[in-house]
Amino acid sequence: MSRNEFSQVPGYYRLLVGDIEVICVNDGSLSSDINAVTGVSPEECRKLFAESFFPEEPRCTTNVFIIRSQGRTALVDAGGGPHLDTTAGKLFENAAAAGVSPKDIDTILFTHIHPDHVSGLLDADEGRVFPHVKIRMARSEQLFWLSDEPASKEIEHVRHEAEHVIRFLTPYANQIEPFVEGEVFPGVTAVPLPGHTPGHTGYLIKSNGDELLIWGDVVHWPIVQFRRPDAAMSYDVDPLQAAATRRQVLEETASSGRLVAGMHLFFPGLTRVRRDGDAFAMVPYPWGHADAIRSVQGQETGTGK
Ligand SMILES: [Zn+2]
Repeated sequence: MSRNEFSQVPGYYRLLVGDIEVICVNDGSLSSDINAVTGVSPEECRKLFAESFFPEEPRCTTNVFIIRSQGRTALVDAGGGPHLDTTAGKLFENAAAAGVSPKDIDTILFTHIHPDHVSGLLDADEGRVFPHVKIRMARSEQLFWLSDEPASKEIEHVRHEAEHVIRFLTPYANQIEPFVEGEVFPGVTAVPLPGHTPGHTGYLIKSNGDELLIWGDVVHWPIVQFRRPDAAMSYDVDPLQAAATRRQVLEETASSGRLVAGMHLFFPGLTRVRRDGDAFAMVPYPWGHADAIRSVQGQETGTGK
């Protein structure tokens, strides 16, 4: 048995943000390559990995998030489904353990529509997994990838991603409701975080004084990009804008102490951010935090929170 064939206990983690329930669900991991980083040399990446005792052949963790608010259920991104690495596409295997199946989802909020975020929309036979959901994404994201004259065709390195994205979103064409800004789901506001893709969007969940920012792909490789926020990825559509957005969000969250959730942060994908010299560091979210305890008690007693 190879290391990638090991199975693990289902990966989900539940917390409350005020009255809103958030379930972090691990979709698995994707192979990656040190040469995917731009703006920082491979030698420096290797040094940062070595300092953190991190393997030299990185894998990219993928999380998705389920939000339950006012009787409705949203999925934030759809993972890789059965179409990418065999180590990915574990979303509903893991969500089942948390009691959630695809038919429970009424809305999908996309942070952006790269292949590792949209491929879970179609099953192995390319049928729709979510025939009844409303799909929400930034209008700029829809226009970049899906309009009749997609701007993505003009950029060499994203052209093949565009073909993939069109294949996975076309069956859902009548279900897409783009937004520009504002509240897009009860208690959830869209936050533009452009650069990785033109319409890359974070989702700020606010309830009863609690907050959580789901920041999508602001960080792909935590070991590198907290230390070197200027390190971009070869699949950023606009690497300079992505780096500027990353530094701005890291500054803001380091000042506010706001809890953040990321698609490629180590499971359960939650962290706070602190300053570390002129860079940043993660402050792992403490498992067993009061929010989680409240959530478990609510489940057992049926009293809500
Ligand atoms: Zn991603």
